[in-house]
Amino acid sequence: MRAVTTGKPQVVVVEDEPELRLLLTDNLSAEGYDVWAAADGETAVPHIEARPPALILLDVLLPRMSGFEVLNRVRSRGIHSPVIVLTARAAESDRIIGLDLGADDYVTKPFSLRELFARVRAQMRRDDWRGGEPGEFTFGDVVVNVRKRLVTRRGRRLELSTREFELLRYLLAHQGEVVSREQLLRDVWGYSQSMVTRTVDNYVMRLRAHLEPQPHDPRHLLTIHGEGYQLLA
Ligand code: CA
Repeated sequence: MRAVTTGKPQVVVVEDEPELRLLLTDNLSAEGYDVWAAADGETAVPHIEARPPALILLDVLLPRMSGFEVLNRVRSRGIHSPVIVLTARAAESDRIIGLDLGADDYVTKPFSLRELFARVRAQMRRDDWRGGEPGEFTFGDVVVNVRKRLVTRRGRRLELSTREFELLRYLLAHQGEVVSREQLLRDVWGYSQSMVTRTVDNYVMRLRAHLEPQPHDPRHLLTIHGEGYQLLA
């Protein structure tokens, strides 16, 4: 457990197996990341809350507080750092629970460092479009403060889920462009395959319910038939 203050992107590792924790810490440090590691969730959660990192590697089977519980707490506090879940179980249910709770990706143990780093880099790349964006967007009666992760409509705060917010942020970053469902799945969900584009449609409907005065007759978040979606201010 150590805290380092550098300009490097910080990766938090939560893993109770000492050998794996050390392996991850050493190799991530060698890759140029500022690594902070903890053996349990009770230690990790306050650190993550105090300083949301660029990425969290989170083991599922942890003593006392499970990785899912850690994830749930972190997300419920409005922290959107990308999370890669490390699961010893190949169970489909773990993957689904993790993704439902707001994990961005998962890796099944045992994994190769090469595979893990590819996923870490993918999450860091996804973070690229989050950088350099203006702080505030307005369309219709909706105001989105990206840095504060605050969405208001007529001055009232909207409670968006992590994924709804990420989808909105992506659409804002590509305002005026037509973005395909496949592009959204790849860049917002981070999946290259095995996901149905219907997932995107469902989230777009949820966003419309939040943002549009008449969700069934959208004025801002438009469907471009056969192509995808377009956000217009
Ligand atoms: Ca474990």
